[in-house]
Amino acid sequence: MDAYTLTVAAALAALTMAASMGLLYLASARQTCLVDWTLAAVLFAFSNMMGAIGLHLPASPIIVSACVNAFYIGGHFGMLAGIRRHLHLAPGWGWGAALVSGVLAVHALPVMQGAPLARLLLFTPIVCAIDLAAARLLWRRGEHEVRASYLPLIMLQLLAALQQVVRLAVMAAAASDPSNPTYGQYVRTSGALATLLYLSLATMCCALIVTHQQTLALRRASLTDVLTGWLNRRALHDIATRDFRRCRRTGSAMFFITFDIDHFKAINDRYGHDVGDTAIRHVTGLSARVLRGYDALFRIGGEEFAVLIAGENLGAVCGIAERLREAVAAATLAVDGQEVTMTVSVGVAALDGQDHKWEDILRRADEALYHAKQHGRDRVSVHGRDLAGRAQVVRLQAVVA
Ligand code: GH3
Ligand code: MG
Ligand code: MG
Repeated sequence: MDAYTLTVAAALAALTMAASMGLLYLASARQTCLVDWTLAAVLFAFSNMMGAIGLHLPASPIIVSACVNAFYIGGHFGMLAGIRRHLHLAPGWGWGAALVSGVLAVHALPVMQGAPLARLLLFTPIVCAIDLAAARLLWRRGEHEVRASYLPLIMLQLLAALQQVVRLAVMAAAASDPSNPTYGQYVRTSGALATLLYLSLATMCCALIVTHQQTLALRRASLTDVLTGWLNRRALHDIATRDFRRCRRTGSAMFFITFDIDHFKAINDRYGHDVGDTAIRHVTGLSARVLRGYDALFRIGGEEFAVLIAGENLGAVCGIAERLREAVAAATLAVDGQEVTMTVSVGVAALDGQDHKWEDILRRADEALYHAKQHGRDRVSVHGRDLAGRAQVVRLQAVVA
């Protein structure tokens, strides 16, 4: 394929990427990194259009090369800016604008107006630095669950940098004999071919990152309670099923602590539903501080909560339950200039050797909670200690020993 066709194809690939990123942004406006990637693609398109114009002119003026190079570097910077924004960092477009202006200005130097090798010698390190910085950021900042979706773009950025270095090395080697026809051919086609491949793959890599992020966000939303930020019943089912199987297989202990706010209806009736909501958040906030380190915190009803703890012993779990009760009882919530105190009743139950499903443990923790309510509220009841027969106690001790 001749250089002109490749350059036009690269420009079309850039426009396709700009359209894809723009449309994806319209479909998911919260992913603002798509705006940076759209802009990056537009800069790549300009670069290649100028390249195609330059190839048509009998003697390409230096301004054409300046635009080709400046927009090309701007495009790579745009990719980095999008990655930075995706990772919640400032995209730094001010630096990008300064870089593009600097590249344009540097073409005024006489040394830049000779053979393309001089320009390549100056710009290759810049492009490589941008591409490597983007790959490093994605690798270092990507959390475990998203890193797989970053890998294709990391690889692409590394390959783009490598390709720049190889191209520079080949041109430097061939520069000793510029009259060699393969040298001229290589100079004209290699850049356009590399850009064409880069843009086609970058479109897919960026779309993968964004769609994966949205899938995770949707999944998180489907498992999280909006009011408290704690996990919901659907999450309880998934996590408890997995932990129950693991604990049965390994013989480890598993516990549920359940708790319910005492006389909560009275708070709703007296102060209204909004204050009731605040009170629920107040209690979950206090509890979360006591339960730091245990991230399986669930809202399983209106003002009823559950904590799943695996691998502890009964004494430690009872201690946690007691600290949780004390923390809620000790704190006050300021409402309309008044101090409202709240208490919770708490139930604790452990995995029993005869349990067939996690719901058995939760049911016993609920029975213990009911027992706490029946015996004056603001207290902890432990199934097997406070409300079961001797056989149950012996079985419980055998499990947690
Ligand atoms: P008890 O000590 O026996 O638990 O008494 P209680 O008044 O707390 O009784 P119960 O636990 O049955 O009360 C549940 C109340 O919680 C009823 C419902 O109106 C209220 N509620 C449930 N979900 C929400 C919510 O999201 N926000 C608010 N404000 N209230 C809620
Ligand atoms: Mg209640
Ligand atoms: Mg309740």
